[in-house]
Amino acid sequence: MDLKSLIRDIPDFPKPGIVFRDITTLLRDPEGLRHTIDLFTQKILDAGLKADYVVGMESRGFMFGTPLAYKIGAGFIPVRKPGKLPAAVHSIEYELEYGTDCLEMHQDALQPECRVLIVDDLIATGGTASATAQLVQKIGCELVGFGFIIELRDLQGRKNLPDVPIITLVEY
Ligand code: AMP
Repeated sequence: MDLKSLIRDIPDFPKPGIVFRDITTLLRDPEGLRHTIDLFTQKILDAGLKADYVVGMESRGFMFGTPLAYKIGAGFIPVRKPGKLPAAVHSIEYELEYGTDCLEMHQDALQPECRVLIVDDLIATGGTASATAQLVQKIGCELVGFGFIIELRDLQGRKNLPDVPIITLVEY
């Protein structure tokens, strides 16, 4: 199945010059959704990645990370924008093109011995995934790999990530 044909390109969103890769059209397609999750699962298993937890970033990381966790027999842990999680959190600030952003995770969500797979819909510069990796590694967890549905290769985001396997389904 051609997953790219189910991903909608929106030029100049959210600002001029950016081509937004819209995965809502993939999610709404029953066959496309099933195929995406099945293929994602297969690639993770084929790479020998074993995780106790999938950590997914708000909000599209939730949409792919949770079904993947279900399929590989892992738990799911959300990483969210500031002020959304109700219990005590670990926070990490990271650099954006202009300014900084912040991500949070519950302090009791992970313990040092946990094996963790980080999942998001898309890797662009790698800033979001790199910050999440720092959050996970600061706790002392074993980061087993990253999974993304989409990779924007020109931005070379993988250069900003720790040296662990990176699984992707669609490349631009
Ligand atoms: P980055 O931190 O630069 O790797 O950006 C990754 C995050 O921003 C992911 O959570 C993506 O959902 C979102 N993102 C960045 N660029 C795009 C794009 N061109 N289309 C859709 N989402 C994007």
